[in-house]
Amino acid sequence: MALFGKKDPCAICGGAVKGLLPHKIEKQLVCRNCYGTVDLPDDVIGEITLKDFKAYMAFRDQNALLKSRFTATHTIDLGLFSSKIVVDTNNRLFCMDKDLEKTIFEGKDIVSFAIKEDSFMLFEGRANGLKSFPSSVRECIMSLTPQINRMNMHQNLQNIASAFGVEKENRTNSTPLEIPEPFAKFNIEIHVNHPYWRTITAQMSAPGINNDRPDLNEYLREYTESALLMEKLANALAEIAFPAAQNQPSASTIASAQTDAIGEIRRYKELFDQGIITEDEFNAKKRQLLGI
Ligand SMILES: [Zn+2]
Repeated sequence: MALFGKKDPCAICGGAVKGLLPHKIEKQLVCRNCYGTVDLPDDVIGEITLKDFKAYMAFRDQNALLKSRFTATHTIDLGLFSSKIVVDTNNRLFCMDKDLEKTIFEGKDIVSFAIKEDSFMLFEGRANGLKSFPSSVRECIMSLTPQINRMNMHQNLQNIASAFGVEKENRTNSTPLEIPEPFAKFNIEIHVNHPYWRTITAQMSAPGINNDRPDLNEYLREYTESALLMEKLANALAEIAFPAAQNQPSASTIASAQTDAIGEIRRYKELFDQGIITEDEFNAKKRQLLGI
């Protein structure tokens, strides 16, 4: 068939171009091998000329040389469908791909970085050091306590009702409550001084609340784990970007202090479950430990 018959060779390497929808630059075909090396922001690749693409490929070859000395000291896993960020604090390098198939950036390229909960700043790294900001997530979660207790009670009543074979009569007002989640994701923004990149971005999903069986302690545990991971990333980026600022007060140990608080809360929860303290006493202690 003529439609799929002859194709022009790759405008970069002159090799054969395969596939139904080959990549094009300046309306000329580019083979998968050549295009496969691309790691560029969408707006840059959309506008690139053949000449610039050739220059870019030379840059990529040069950049790949950094692989040989890259030894990851930190791997930050952003979740199931997201990338991993690997950092090499000894050689001051980082890459948005654990297999180093993407561009390897140098710490000195970093101008500043931000890690946010949606649009709220959590960590900010600049030449004068790393700053951490208080998060309102725990407060927000604790404010949901009455609503969640109500939901769980409602659920328990329904379970009892169905155990006794009571059907859903007189339950017209049993529309399930929707629990608002404190935030949707952690946003990572790394601003660089680089020929091809201005800002490197990545996301990690916030923990979710199970609407059928909301569990605040579970949420707080997951949240603390994620916040600790973001703190680890912030510290690693600050270390490679602004080594001179390391002796300044860096990210506080807020997150780890809160891990201790969660452990304490668990212990009080056991005391409550065993009937040694009342629910009010437990809630008071919980608020005190979380500082809200
Ligand atoms: Zn090619």
